[in-house]
Amino acid sequence: MFYDGCIGCHVCETVCSYHHLGRFEPSSSSIEIKKGSEGNYPMIFFNGKDGKRVSCDLCRGLEEPLCVKYCSKFKFKKHLSDIVTAEKNNRL
Ligand code: SF4
Ligand code: SF4
Repeated sequence: MFYDGCIGCHVCETVCSYHHLGRFEPSSSSIEIKKGSEGNYPMIFFNGKDGKRVSCDLCRGLEEPLCVKYCSKFKFKKHLSDIVTAEKNNRL
């Protein structure tokens, strides 16, 4: 999926990996930010359905999902928050 507003800073990937592994390893996070051909940044969200990467656990135990908390672009924060909320609703 692609959302306007993401600047490809990879902070969300970085903090997600810290949540899962206790270290900064963006390539192992539940989010992948790619570089699109048109200068945009498509995002892949791993929720365990494809067996790849560690599945998003909605930042279990934390008050606010780290990807939302630390996203550096306010506009994209809302998108991330919506994705995490939708995922949470899917699991209820
Ligand atoms: S809510 Fe999911 S994708 Fe976001 S930082 Fe937490 S585990 Fe990663
Ligand atoms: S932290 Fe926000 S702006 Fe940075 S790559 Fe992730 S979604 Fe995009």
